[in-house]
Amino acid sequence: MGLRYLVNARPLPNLRRTADLVFRGPRIAVFIDGCYWHACPQHFRQPSEHPAYWRTKIDRNRERDAETNAVLAQYGWTVLRFWSHLDASEIADAIAAAVSEPRPRWLA
Ligand SMILES: [Zn+2]
Repeated sequence: MGLRYLVNARPLPNLRRTADLVFRGPRIAVFIDGCYWHACPQHFRQPSEHPAYWRTKIDRNRERDAETNAVLAQYGWTVLRFWSHLDASEIADAIAAAVSEPRPRWLA
């Protein structure tokens, strides 16, 4: 699509969070969330072995996701999250649409 972006990069150098795709110019960070690790409502199944352990771990991932979203938003970034089960070309279209959107004036 002719878009320029970084792969597996930190949107903010001092924030220890790596986004799957980073568009520095328009400040868009893309995360492709795994269905299991981020508890996709369609595919997540509670494991039968050590359910409490996994629940805690996955809840922590989700809290971390929310915190990442909040911090990036605070610095004027747009965060896009997609479940890994989605069709790659649909994800690409959604990203391209967001990247080509004009930035709100108050963020310029
Ligand atoms: Zn899923």
